[in-house]
Amino acid sequence: MNFEMTPRQLELIETAREAYARKLEPLAGDRSVEGTWKLRKAMAEQGFLGLNMPTDLGGVGLPLLDTLMVIQTLHACSSAVGSLAHRTSTGACGAIEAYGTPEQREKYIRGICSGELGISIGITEPEAGSAATAMRTRAEIDGDEVVINGSKQFVSSINTNDYTVVYCRFGTTGRSSDIGAVIVPHDAPGFSRSNGTINMADELLFELYFDECRVPKSNILLDGSAFGKLISVYNAERLGSISRLLGAAQAAYEYALAYSKERHQFNRPISDFQGIQWMLAEMRIKLDAAQLLVYRAAATAGATGLPEPLETSIAKVFTAKAAKEICDDAIQILGANGYTKEYPLVHRYAEVRGGSIYGGTLQIHKNMIAAKILDRPISQWKKD
Ligand SMILES: Cc1cc2nc3c(=O)[nH]c(=O)nc-3n(C[C@H](O)[C@H](O)[C@H](O)COP(=O)(O)OP(=O)(O)OC[C@H]3O[C@@H](n4cnc5c(N)ncnc54)[C@H](O)[C@@H]3O)c2cc1C
Repeated sequence: MNFEMTPRQLELIETAREAYARKLEPLAGDRSVEGTWKLRKAMAEQGFLGLNMPTDLGGVGLPLLDTLMVIQTLHACSSAVGSLAHRTSTGACGAIEAYGTPEQREKYIRGICSGELGISIGITEPEAGSAATAMRTRAEIDGDEVVINGSKQFVSSINTNDYTVVYCRFGTTGRSSDIGAVIVPHDAPGFSRSNGTINMADELLFELYFDECRVPKSNILLDGSAFGKLISVYNAERLGSISRLLGAAQAAYEYALAYSKERHQFNRPISDFQGIQWMLAEMRIKLDAAQLLVYRAAATAGATGLPEPLETSIAKVFTAKAAKEICDDAIQILGANGYTKEYPLVHRYAEVRGGSIYGGTLQIHKNMIAAKILDRPISQWKKD
C-alpha cells in the first residue's frame, strides 16, 4: 500500500492547474449554451475530455484513479470545467465505450473526446426515482427503427448536449430484465423537452418526452437484460461525480484557510482563534478521509475500469456528507461575506448539496452498504 501520488499523477495535476489558468479560466465564466461549447472545444484542445477513454478513439487513456484526480483538480478550479471533464469521461460515454458497437464507439466516443458531441443520461422518471427499475418508458423495435414512448425528468445538460442515453424497457414483464438503453438524438421525431427547472446550484434540469419517438435501430445500445451492466458502468460515473464534490470541498477549504489568515478581528487574524483552528482542522480531516475513500474505490477498478459497488457507495456517502460540512464550515469562517453570492462559497455549498441526491441518494447507498455487510437481499420492493 502506497499513499504517495506518482510523479506522473503529480504532473497531471500540475498540468491541469496550469492549463486552467492559461487557457480555460477566461472561458469558464460563460454558462450560456454557446459559452459551454467554446469551453468544451478549448478543453478538447488541452486534452481534458475523454480522460479515461481509449486513445484510439481520441481519448486520453488514463486509468480511472488518475482520471478522478484530474476531475477533482479541474473542479476545484471551476465547477463548469470539472463538470465537463466528468461528463465526457465517466459520464454517459462509459456505457457506450463498454457496450457500444464499433460504429457507435467510433461516432460517439470520438465525437465526445473531440468536443463535437455531448451526451446526457436519462434514467429518472416521475414514478421511478430511487426505485429506478420502476421506469415505464418503453422501446419497441419496428423494422429498422425503435419506437420510444414515455418520459424522463431531472436530466442534466440537455440544452448543451446533442444526445441522451435513454434507459427504457424492451419487454413487458415489469422486471428489471426488460431494461436496456437507446442513444436518442435530440432532433429525433417525437422527442421534445421542457425548458428546464433551475435547481439550487442555478443549473437546469430537464423533462424529456417521447411520443412515438423514432430512432434507427442501430442506436440501440443494449436491448434488455442490461440494468446490471448499465449500473456496473454507472459506478464509474458515480466516482466521477464524487470527485467533483471533492474538488468543490477542496476549493472551499482552501478559500476559507486563506481568508482566515487575512481577516482581522480583535486586532488579530481570525486564524489565531482556536474556534476557527478547530474548524479548519476538521475540514482538513474530512477532506483527506474522503479523498482516500474515493481513491480506494477507484483502485478497486483495476484494469476493467469498473469499481466495486461497496467501496463506491462507502466513498459516495462519506464524501457527500463531508463536502456539505466542509462548505458549510467555510461559509461560517467567512461570516456574512461567506453567506453572500459575492463570494464563491454559496455556490460551492449549493452544488455539493445535490451530491446527496443524484447518482443514488445517500439513503439508497446506505441500503446497498447494509445489504452487503449483512449479506441480506438488496430489494426494497414491498411484497404483497
Ligand atoms: C443535480 C441533479 C442532477 C440530476 N441529473 C440527473 C440526470 O442527468 N439523469 C437522470 O436520470 N436523473 C438525474 N437526477 C435525478 C436523480 O437521479 C434522482 O433525483 C434520484 O435518483 C432520487 O430520486 P427522486 O428525486 O425521485 O427521490 P425519491 O426516490 O422520491 O426519494 C425521496 C426520498 O426518499 C428516500 N427514499 C426512497 N426510497 C428509499 C428507501 N428504499 N430507503 C430509504 N430512503 C428512501 C430518498 O433517499 C429521498 O430522501 C439528478 C438529480 C439532481 C439533484
